[in-house]
Amino acid sequence: MVKILQKDDPILRKVATPVAVTDIQTPEIKGVIADMQKAMHAEDDAVAIAAPQIGISKRIFVVSGKVFDRFEDKPENHPDLICINPEIIKVSKDHKQMNEGCLSVRYLYGNVRRASRASIRAYNEKGELFERGGSGLLAQIFQHEIDHLEGILFSDTAKDLKDMPPTK
Ligand code: ZN
Repeated sequence: MVKILQKDDPILRKVATPVAVTDIQTPEIKGVIADMQKAMHAEDDAVAIAAPQIGISKRIFVVSGKVFDRFEDKPENHPDLICINPEIIKVSKDHKQMNEGCLSVRYLYGNVRRASRASIRAYNEKGELFERGGSGLLAQIFQHEIDHLEGILFSDTAKDLKDMPPTK
C-alpha cells in the first residue's frame, strides 16, 4: 500500500522540483507514477493525485480516467492522464466557487474560488509535450493539483470548511 501524506506533513508545503525530460522514462519516474496511480485508485472518491501527496516532491500529477468516463454516454475505461511539469497556460476570466476535498486533507470539504476553464501544457509519460483544456471538474482538478506542486492546499483558502467523514 502506498501511503498518502496528511496536511501537517512538511513535504506537502514544499515547492516541488521539475522532472528532467530525459528522466521521464526512467524506472524511477515510472515507479513514482505507478505508486501514484496505486494510491489514487485505492480511494473510492479520488479523481486525481499529485506526487508530493505520496512523499515525492516532484512536479507530477495524475488525473483518474474515471473523470473522463463521466463525460460520455457510454463510459469506457479511459487511461489516467499523466501530467509532468504541468503549467497553466490559460484560465478563463470567470470564476466559480467550487466544492472541493483532498486526499491529504481528510475529511474536510469546502468552497474554493476557481477559474471555470483552464488549459495546461505538460509532458506525458512518454516525454511528449501536450496541451489540454478543461472546464468544470477538469479545470478544478488542474488548478488544485498545480497548487499541490506549489505547496498550497485547498484548505488554505477554502470557505465554509466542513468535516464530513465517510459514514459506514
Ligand atoms: Zn489534493
